Amino acid sequence: SRAARTVDLAKVYGKGDTQVVALGGVTVDFASGQFTAIMGPSGSGKSTLMHCMAALDSVTRGEVYIGETELTRLGDAALTRLRRDEIGFVFQAFNLVPTLSARENITLPLDIAGRDVDPGWFDTVVSTVGLSDRLGHKPSELSGGQQQRVACARALVSKPSIVFADEPTGNLDSRSGTEVLSFLRRSVREYGQTIVMVTHDPGAAAYADRVLFLGDGLIVDEMADPTADRVL
Ligand code: ADP
Ligand code: ADP
Repeated sequence: SRAARTVDLAKVYGKGDTQVVALGGVTVDFASGQFTAIMGPSGSGKSTLMHCMAALDSVTRGEVYIGETELTRLGDAALTRLRRDEIGFVFQAFNLVPTLSARENITLPLDIAGRDVDPGWFDTVVSTVGLSDRLGHKPSELSGGQQQRVACARALVSKPSIVFADEPTGNLDSRSGTEVLSFLRRSVREYGQTIVMVTHDPGAAAYADRVLFLGDGLIVDEMADPTADRVL
């Protein structure tokens, strides 16, 4: 089945002379349980594609579906609910709350939404990500790699339909980056998580099931199964 798709998605910033076409009409499917990496030069539209799909940015033309729900016709309340219930985010800068423990950071989105934490699922995510003995620590007491793994657990704990990761290894050394990528990969293999990840790093993209290459706001190339010749 399909977790998400876009149809002729276009995004234009600004008006008149200062107009920038960030996306020129992108049609793409994201299968359920598929790990997609998006690569391309700076300014090619990677962040814009992800932000439009994640309902963080408005769309100039075209359609975005998360599951069967078409986003561009939804009102603010429905978009907020969709972002909260169906979408997980992992950012380059971790975006953890410094005063809260790892455990509190992981459950924060559910706490804010007034939703119950499924204890079995919480334990599964936390142990897969290798944080079981760090749950009482504040972000400042964790390494960069551990902080990003907390952010990954936070993105997964609400069982989102799709996780968007924006340069998740951009601030990490290569060993910590590998830990984070291994976890994302494992969440795809073991729980069928759907992930879309923007990255500059071909080594990171090799953890994905396919790589989309953007150029000037369009998909210019696609590589299937970059993991085929790797043992992860
Ligand atoms: P990438 O993530 O591949 O670096 P972006 O999606 O950030 O590319 O940007 C695509 C194009 O849109 C670039 O030319 C960028 O300068 C422009 N752009 C992105 N966001 C804005 C914005 N808020 N206002 C104006 N132009 C923007
Ligand atoms: P990245 O490509 O690593 O996401 P950028 O520096 O391209 O980082 O963009 C960071 C943010 O700034 C993006 O979310 C984008 O919306 C915004 N942005 C990018 N280019 C412009 C621009 N020309 N004018 C205004 N905002 C921009």
